[in-house]
Parts: sequence; structure tokens; C-alpha cells
Amino acid sequence: MFDVVVVGAGFSGLYLLHRLREQGLSVRVLEAADGVGGTWYWNRYPGARCDVDAVEYGFSFSPELDRTWRWDERYATQERILEYLDHVADTYDLRRDITFGTRVAGATWDEGAARWTVRTEGGDELTARFVVMATGCLSKPKKPDIPGIESFAGPTYFTSTWPHEGVDFTGRRVAVIGTGSSGVQAIPRIAEQAARLHVFQRTANFIVPAGNHELTEDDHDPDTLAARRASGMACPLGLAFEFTETNLKNAVDLPEAERTAEFERLWNRGGLPMMLGFADLLVDERANRMVAEFIAEKIRRRVHDPEVAAALIPSGFPVGAKRLCVDIDYYEAFNRDNVKLVDLRATPIERVTPAGIQVGGTEIPVDDLVLATGFDALTGALTAIDIRGKDGLRLTEAWEHGPRTYLGLCVAGFPNLFAVAAGPGSPGVLSNMRVSIEQHVDWITDCVRYVDEQGMGRIEATEQAQDQWVEHVREVGDTTLFPRANSWYVGANVPGKPRVFMPYIGGVPVYREECAEVAAKGYAGFHLTPA
Ligand code: FAD
Ligand code: NAP
Repeated sequence: MFDVVVVGAGFSGLYLLHRLREQGLSVRVLEAADGVGGTWYWNRYPGARCDVDAVEYGFSFSPELDRTWRWDERYATQERILEYLDHVADTYDLRRDITFGTRVAGATWDEGAARWTVRTEGGDELTARFVVMATGCLSKPKKPDIPGIESFAGPTYFTSTWPHEGVDFTGRRVAVIGTGSSGVQAIPRIAEQAARLHVFQRTANFIVPAGNHELTEDDHDPDTLAARRASGMACPLGLAFEFTETNLKNAVDLPEAERTAEFERLWNRGGLPMMLGFADLLVDERANRMVAEFIAEKIRRRVHDPEVAAALIPSGFPVGAKRLCVDIDYYEAFNRDNVKLVDLRATPIERVTPAGIQVGGTEIPVDDLVLATGFDALTGALTAIDIRGKDGLRLTEAWEHGPRTYLGLCVAGFPNLFAVAAGPGSPGVLSNMRVSIEQHVDWITDCVRYVDEQGMGRIEATEQAQDQWVEHVREVGDTTLFPRANSWYVGANVPGKPRVFMPYIGGVPVYREECAEVAAKGYAGFHLTPA
């Protein structure tokens, strides 16, 4: 029997293994992939990179990693992040406790023995006192339900499970379906290679420029790194950002020139902090429309054909309520002769045929189909596992009407089970994920130590604490514009998924305080019992 079984070997699983082992616990990590990396193992599509500054995305817990690793660009490529996570695994000799190529099919709680039995798809069983699901927030790809898609005769590539050997699109007629973050990153790179590229866009997204550039040794200076990390810890989104007096004001209260100057500054700075520009951008429709119009004007300037520009301008949902995309040369791709935008709002896909995609009664011939169609986010990887808690309660039953957690970390009825940063009810996906992952992992490992030190064998969130947290998450969400978009944050991209705004939008510092207070009060809201 292990002390802890961890499922997943991405950022979360790797850090968990390191911390739990440091505490002297026996740990086994089970990972479906053949290597470490999680997101960065699977999503190898052209153009894939982080959209958070790499120096902030890398782990902060290890002076040794700081000393031995250098990021080369502001936004590291997928290859570089995967190299980094391999380097983390090497540095801490993590692979010896990871079983690769092993997908977990189920986990069942034995109340009498106070232990979990974890079952793999291969039929192996492991027992453990604790299980931590480090299964990822965006790790369960979602197939689009487009008529005829299975009949397509050429190769179909998912951005989320891209072939390791890469794909050469030279001379090919390519179709990309999907214009979320993955599509926005892949399209310019595919456009450079393909003979012809059709981009099938159902919803135009709000996109801000990356402002990518090479990094120098100064970017890795220990004091600079420490300052950035401290700034990230204080920011609701976990991003290093020097708030000015202007950023604490409401956009609607400022004269237009002053407001536009700040939008312009943030636009030129590049990246996600665009939404930190003013206090009211994500809560007041009027302010949100101001930033939407600013972005629309940028699109009009970047895209030469006014009709194409108009189709690329998002409408019908607030800026930021769907995850903001960060681009390198996205709009410029539509100025190329070999790229054509197909606006599915005007002409929906009728069907995929063996030789192409039919829209408006015309078949567009296609050699290669690329699906950048997203994920069953947050809950998908968890509900794919047959998790059974007390009295055989299935997680899918407990979450029938939407996910319910305490702090995004635990679920009532499922003792000694934790989820990392992917748990609905946590701020993870609204933040620089590394910041949330480290905080979650630290909290979980401290919690396991506390249970052991108290001579307890079992910890479970109470229904009451969970109900209060779920209500709090909903209340805070409702004060913002987030619930108004059909985003993966509310599960709208998966037919039949209950519509619930899943992440906690109270901000990383507030959430961290909340978690720390729960721990300081002897794990308030949890029920601890001897084994
Ligand atoms: P993951 O990296 O998703 O790892 C989960 C692992 O669990 C996977 O390896 C998976 O194979 C394994 N697993 C799942 N289910 C099972 C099972 N049943 N059995 C065995 N193994 C299982 N976040 C940011 O903050 N900044 C970014 O720039 C950013 N860019 C992203 C780009 C892409 C393309 C995607 C998809 C996500 C991005 N994210 C980003 C979110 C990203 O997922 C997190 O930053 C982070 O990598 C999550 O790490 P994780 O270890 O929690 O999960
Ligand atoms: P996504 O944001 O969910 O985008 C999926 C796209 O596919 C949307 O444009 C969607 O259109 C479209 N789509 C889905 N089904 C379709 C259908 N049947 N017909 C036509 N279009 C369809 O997924 P993603 O781009 O993979 O990104 C998911 C998340 O991963 C991001 O939000 C981000 O958090 C993370 N990510 C980050 C980066 C990065 O920059 N570092 C890169 C990739 C991913 P609708 O909007 O109309 O549904």
C-alpha cells in the first residue's frame, strides 16, 4: 500500500511527488502518457506556447531550478516547456516513482479500511491512504459533433493530441476548425506552410498581442525573479503586474484620452494583463464595451479586407468572459493570399465529406483537417474516472447538477481525495496556473501531514462547508460578467453539461488567505476521524 497515489505527471503531479516524497511518504504517480509534461506532452501543435511569461510560469519553489534553467523567449514554446519539465524530473529524480503509459480507470473508497483502491485500464490495482487527482483542467479533449466528421478520408489532427513526429503541411489544402487559444496559435504557423488554409470560425475571440521577445540573463536575476513572483502572489490573476493608480480606477470614470492611453500602454506591453487595466473591466458592461471597441479598432487596422476584419471582430459576449487569447501574427495571417476565413455565423458547416467540408451548398476541398475544438474542461478528466466514495457514491452522481467542491480541493462524500488546481471552485484556470498549482500542492501536502500528525486516518469535507463554498463561488461569479458568455468556464462547449460558472473569481490572494485560514483553524469545514 502507498501513502499517496497521484494521477497525472504534469506541473501538478511533478511538484506533488517532490513535496510528498520530501515528507517521507511513499508515493506512486500514474500517468497515461509515455512521459512527463501533461499539457506540454500532448499539445504539440505548431505555434503552441505559454501565454503567461515563461519566467513566471516556471516553478518558484526551487533555487536549484532557478540556477540551472534559462528561458529563451518571453513566451516559451511547447518544446521548451516540455524540456523544462523533463529537467525538473531529472533534477529531482522523479521518474523512478512514476508509472507511464498507465491510464487510471477507477478509484474506490473502502470506508472500513480507510483507503482507496485505484484501478488502471490495464486491470492493475493499487491501494493508498490518499489519492490526489492531478489530472489537469484542460486534458480531456472534446470531439466536435459535426455531421460526417468520421467520414473524412484524409488525416484528422487534434491540436490536443498532436503527432510527436510533427506534420508537414507543405503543398497541402488544410482546414482548421476552432479559433480559441489553440487555433489562434496554430493558424499563423500552418498558414506559413500550407498551399491553402481555410479557417472555420464559429465564434470570433478577443485576442491581445503577445509582445514576444528574447530574454536575457537579466530576466533570470534572482532579485528580479523574486520581485516578479511576489507581484504575482499579490495579483488576482497570479500575474506579475505593477498596479498604478490608474489601474485601480474605473474605466467609466476617466476621460476618454486617459482611458485610451492606458489601453494602449497595456496593448503594447502585451499579454493577459490587458484585463487588469481598470477595476471595472470585468464587472461593468459599459467598461467592458470600451475595451471591446478598443480591440475591435485594432483588428480593423491589422486586417486589410474590411469584410474579413468585420467577421473577426467578436460580438455577443464580454471581453475576458471567454478566456482571452494571446497572438503572434494571427490577424496578419488573414492578409495572406493562401488563407481564407469561413464565418460559420453566416454559413454554418453542413457536413464534412470524405473530400472536404460543405458550407452554403459548396464543398471546400481539404487534404488535412485540424481540430482545435477544445476540451471538456475542469470536470472532464475527473468524471472520466469511475470515482466512488462513501457508500459507493459515484462522483458523476454527486455532480449530476454541476460540480460541488470545498475550496476546489475536496468533495464531501469522498474522504482522503484531493484535486489540484483543476478542481471547480478554485481560481486555478483564471490564474497563472503555476501559482495556483504550487499553492494547491503546498496546501494538500500540509493537510496530509496534519492528518498524520494528529494520528487521524481520514479527512472529509463536510456537506455544510461545501454548500457554503459552492454558494460563495456562485455569488462572487455573479458579480462579474463571466457567466454571460458561452464559455468552457460554464461548460457551455459540452452538450448536456450543467451550466455552472466553475472557477472561483475571488482572486488568487483572497483564495490563498481563505485556504490558509481553514488550515490554521485545524482544517475548519473538514471532519477528521481516526483510521
Ligand atoms: P496537465 O498538464 O493537464 O497534466 C495532467 C496529466 O494527467 C496529463 O499528463 C494526463 O495525461 C494525466 N491524466 C489525466 N487523466 C488521467 C488518467 N485517468 N489516468 C492517468 N493519467 C491521467 N496555463 C497557464 O497558466 N499558462 C499558459 O500559458 C497555459 N497554456 C496552455 C496551453 C494549452 C495548449 C493548454 C491545453 C493549457 C494551457 N494552460 C496554461 C493550462 C495548463 O493546463 C496548466 O498551466 C498546467 O500545465 C496544468 O498542469 P497539470 O499538471 O495540473 O495538468
Ligand atoms: P477553446 O477555447 O474551447 O476553443 C475551441 C474552438 O473550437 C472555439 O473556437 C469553438 O467555437 C470551436 N468549436 C468547437 N466545436 C465546434 C464545432 N462543432 N464547430 C465549429 N467550431 C467549433 O479550446 P482551445 O483553443 O483548445 O483552448 C482551451 C483553453 O486552453 C484556452 O482557453 C486556454 O486556457 C488554454 N490554452 C492556452 C494556450 C496559450 O495561449 N498558452 C493555448 C491553447 C490553449 P465556439 O467558441 O463557438 O464554441
